[in-house]
Amino acid sequence: MAIYEAPTEDVLFLLDDVFRIGRYDNLPGFTDAAPDIRRVILEEAGKFCEQVLTPLNRTGDAEGCARHPDGSVATPHGFKEAFRQYGDGGWMGISAPVEFGGQGLPETMTVAVNEMMISANMAFSMYAGLTQGALAALIVYGTPEQKATYVPKMVAGRWTGTMNLTESHCGTDLGLLRTRATPQGDGSYRLTGSKIFISGGEHDLSENIVHLVLARIEGAQPGIRGVSLFVVPKILPAADGSLGRRNSVTCGAIEEKMGIHGNATCVMNYDGATGWLVGEENRGINAMFTMMNGARLAVGVQGLALSEVAYQNAAAYAKDRLQGRALTGASFPDRAADPIIVHPDVRRALMTIRAFNESARALILWTALQSDIAHRSPDDKARQAADDHMGLFTPVIKGVLTDIGFANTVVAQQVYGGHGYIAEHGMEQFVRDSRIAMMYEGTNGIQALDLVGRKLPRDGGRASQAFFGEVSAYLNAKSADEAMKRYVDPLAGALADLRQATMWLAQNAPGKPDNAGAAATDYMHLFGLVALGYMWCRIVEIAQMKLAGGAGDTVRMKAKLVTARFFMERMLPETRVHLARIQAGAESAMQLPADEF
Ligand SMILES: Cc1cc2nc3c(=O)[nH]c(=O)nc-3n(C[C@H](O)[C@H](O)[C@H](O)COP(=O)(O)OP(=O)(O)OC[C@H]3O[C@@H](n4cnc5c(N)ncnc54)[C@H](O)[C@@H]3O)c2cc1C
Repeated sequence: MAIYEAPTEDVLFLLDDVFRIGRYDNLPGFTDAAPDIRRVILEEAGKFCEQVLTPLNRTGDAEGCARHPDGSVATPHGFKEAFRQYGDGGWMGISAPVEFGGQGLPETMTVAVNEMMISANMAFSMYAGLTQGALAALIVYGTPEQKATYVPKMVAGRWTGTMNLTESHCGTDLGLLRTRATPQGDGSYRLTGSKIFISGGEHDLSENIVHLVLARIEGAQPGIRGVSLFVVPKILPAADGSLGRRNSVTCGAIEEKMGIHGNATCVMNYDGATGWLVGEENRGINAMFTMMNGARLAVGVQGLALSEVAYQNAAAYAKDRLQGRALTGASFPDRAADPIIVHPDVRRALMTIRAFNESARALILWTALQSDIAHRSPDDKARQAADDHMGLFTPVIKGVLTDIGFANTVVAQQVYGGHGYIAEHGMEQFVRDSRIAMMYEGTNGIQALDLVGRKLPRDGGRASQAFFGEVSAYLNAKSADEAMKRYVDPLAGALADLRQATMWLAQNAPGKPDNAGAAATDYMHLFGLVALGYMWCRIVEIAQMKLAGGAGDTVRMKAKLVTARFFMERMLPETRVHLARIQAGAESAMQLPADEF
């Protein structure tokens, strides 16, 4: 069976030492997450993930979800009890407002806990993740009555949430959607239509399921500007908040799919179901974006989380599996063969994953802190800058971390040789489970277009210029630091590549949009590499300081320096390749007529 150990110490190192989370104690909720509280939360979350969720990962995959003839859906054995523990433990609402029963702690803590949950059991974690996304939309856009009705029960984990966008003919292009909403004259609407691929659309984990549904009010204009958001509960709440009658929304089928078998992916049929508008008419996409942006970051975390658990297993296997001899002579002459970890190619594989994981975790936590600043800072300028950061980094984190996260599960599987292909070790499940993260919440191609087409030029390039400026200022500040040279010089080269790519796009995309479209994925990855390189420099700086100060944990800090060096020497140079592809333009991609494909 696959193993998992929560990366608690690494999270604490990043929060306490690298990002000095204590600096933000002026923000609401931060003093409540004092250092000892942070440790307790992460350790308890780690235990829950290691002891409860990890064992259910393989069994949940094998058993999957089952739809009964009456439309009800059973989740795999053990999920119900684990979800009860999750709710009772208060994990859903770590960062939810105290007035709704949450703990009001920084969002950063939720993100750190979510990484652990996903590593332990991605399918299970999605029921909670979608609920947290729905909560975010209701808290921002819900009426006071809607908040009072739904939010506390969802925070307690008694009711769960879903996100209903996709229809069979309408995925990326949501302007095509057909589900319609008819006003009833009493403030409610009747929703009619069919949604597909709805994660957690039906299940047996909670007393009620709160669907957030995109639909078009009768008479609204076609396209995305005619789309509104509705809250449609599976069971209608009675006036006193208790469960009333069943709404006419049912699960028509569940999908047979490649992975995340423990998560029910449902066809949801709305047959005149009662719902209520959330936010303004025809501005549903804005409200849904609140949910989607959070969800996109959460999906980026899925990329890291699966890469992390795959790494842990591959590293353990590589120390155990005996095959061949080290190129430099037998390391263990008394054994029949050396463990495969002696082979440079196996090391290359493990270091590639590790160098990604540790910097990706830093990038996620840094961005989660920006999310806290954007939502909690009293300072307008700080909020604006943090919001710019979030906008810019959301597609990067979603797209880059899930592309690389999936690739890393394959690299980790390869460490097992043929045994990686066999279900027993759990590696093929990580590959299957992580694949979806590149597709949902907007495919990664769409993330890249969002970055290049919207986020980069937005507000005259304010967000990207702020990031480039921050990295430049950092490089200047470290230019005379000999100990940092090995790290900052490659980052300076990568930043120059990114600036050049940005300039090339500014000059070559406006008149030829295909140049932007063809460059987008490479640009997103180039951007991601620079961001990860910057994270490594920030980590190295602190690791060097700790080592110089003789603080404990020298083994881990020394390993940080080696891993950073690997990243700088063997991963960051890929920026060159991305730049070359970007500058090649769109012609060779676009030249063949469609009927020649
Ligand atoms: C397991 C699973 C769970 C899901 N959960 C949910 C959920 O909970 N709620 C929900 O609403 N949906 C959910 N989805 C749906 C998911 O978000 C969509 O599948 C996804 O957004 C892509 O839409 P599509 O599949 O229709 O692909 P399409 O939109 O048909 O895209 C096909 C391909 O064309 C590309 N493409 C499309 N348009 C463009 C363009 N303008 N420019 C460049 N390339 C383009 C895409 O990148 C993609 O590669 C889920 C899907 C799955 C498989």
